[in-house]
Amino acid sequence: MERARPFPARRRILKGAALAAVPYALLPGPRAGAQTPAPDYPLGEWQPASPANYTAASRPTAHPVDLVVIHVTQTDYSGTLAVFQHPRKKVSAHYVVRSADGHVAQCVREADIAWHAGSWEHNTRSIGIEHEGWVDQPGYFTDAMYERSAALTAAVCTKYGIPRDRAHIIGHYEIPGTDHTDPGPHWDWTRYIRLVRSV
Ligand SMILES: [Zn+2]
Repeated sequence: MERARPFPARRRILKGAALAAVPYALLPGPRAGAQTPAPDYPLGEWQPASPANYTAASRPTAHPVDLVVIHVTQTDYSGTLAVFQHPRKKVSAHYVVRSADGHVAQCVREADIAWHAGSWEHNTRSIGIEHEGWVDQPGYFTDAMYERSAALTAAVCTKYGIPRDRAHIIGHYEIPGTDHTDPGPHWDWTRYIRLVRSV
């Protein structure tokens, strides 16, 4: 996770301009619209982040997607969803994978730009996947988590034509300039990439 604030003001301005052009009677209710799409990943459960915590976009048309960024949450699964749903946290990821059973929540549409990498450039071109756990507690990285996350990453790679290698499936710690260490030294990259390729 990260707490950067990539251009929230710009989003508000664009939203205001768009609303100004729509007759008032046609406006949807305050929670209608983007909060309730079908998940992009069929096995995902829709758990929407607050629209204040990501940038609406039309990827891959507007921004090519060529990276998957792997994170570890440093809090539990429900706590992560709560952070993403809190409109002042200014952080989100597209997906959260639960430790115990590998259950996948989708919090941001893949077309939209989640705020997870701490870098606008890397946010625009990536899908962010959070994993429940702590970097210094390898017990959270269960077989189910590895397998279901790898299946998710494989589906993302197929959809966007992303090579299934370590140049394109990276850790948060590999984002230039970051001070984050996740997913940390206990994350088994060799196993993970092998699983991604085997799907
Ligand atoms: Zn992270």
